[in-house]
Amino acid sequence: MILFKKTSDLTKYLKTIHGKGISTGFVPTMGALHAGHLSLIENSKEKTSVTIASIFINPTQFNDPADFDKYPVTLEKDILALEKAGCDVLFLPSVQEIYPRGTADLPHFNLGYLETILEGKHRPGHFQGVCQVMSRLLEIVMPATLFLGRKDYQQCMVIRKLISLKEWKISLDIIPTLREPSGLAMSSRNMRLSEMDKEKASGVYNALQYLKDEIRPGDLTGYILKAAAMIKNAGFEKTDYVSIAERDSLQPVTHWNGEMVLVGLVAAYINGVRLIDNITLR
Ligand code: AMP
Repeated sequence: MILFKKTSDLTKYLKTIHGKGISTGFVPTMGALHAGHLSLIENSKEKTSVTIASIFINPTQFNDPADFDKYPVTLEKDILALEKAGCDVLFLPSVQEIYPRGTADLPHFNLGYLETILEGKHRPGHFQGVCQVMSRLLEIVMPATLFLGRKDYQQCMVIRKLISLKEWKISLDIIPTLREPSGLAMSSRNMRLSEMDKEKASGVYNALQYLKDEIRPGDLTGYILKAAAMIKNAGFEKTDYVSIAERDSLQPVTHWNGEMVLVGLVAAYINGVRLIDNITLR
């Protein structure tokens, strides 16, 4: 695996492969890698010729500074894991490399409705930060295919919108969520949980699975209330949202005609750690 810290060095390297019929796959991450991240690498390796990963904890997407400070860092382990997974290139930029003119005056992206709901509503500015870092990373790497995890469902929609706003010819490949045997979605933030909290945290998956198994056409309010109660009873101290929404628009659905494809989405806190998850309901 080749490791680049400087944008100019990565750009020089990419010039030697771009335009030569060599397909590139890109897996952006914030490190603290787990099997979910590595499944994105595996997918990229299967489907493209050169796999590029990045590790960059983007300060501009943390609406809560304490969350940024506590974000887990396991760099040496990550490098070994990427090498073992057969990743070809790792981009490990500093904040200065990504934002050479600082972070005070970064562009604003018109995300419309997407930024007003769910994660957008509960984490003001978060998706602007996601677009700021992704626009820089994609400008630098300009991969044929970008690999993202479905676990961050709304983020995938935001990045799809960014690619369309920029008119870039980048395909998106969205990879299913890898879970612990308990159903808990793998996440770097799980490292901040005790084993007991991890067990409790599978309550989110159980609530989503309940929605998937039980919902029937008609009024959905009762199902949402029951799922929220399941999460609370599992030991979560606060729930930002339990939502059932239309798969493509994320418009909330409270009365279901039985035809529309729905997704259930949750964000909740356990022991101060905010977890998100989602599941397709039909
Ligand atoms: P992060 O390091 O949290 O920014 O995540 C980097 C990428 O890995 C994003 O595209 C995530 O959606 C994806 N990812 C995170 N957790 C999982 C998981 N459990 N399964 C599959 N992909 C994941």
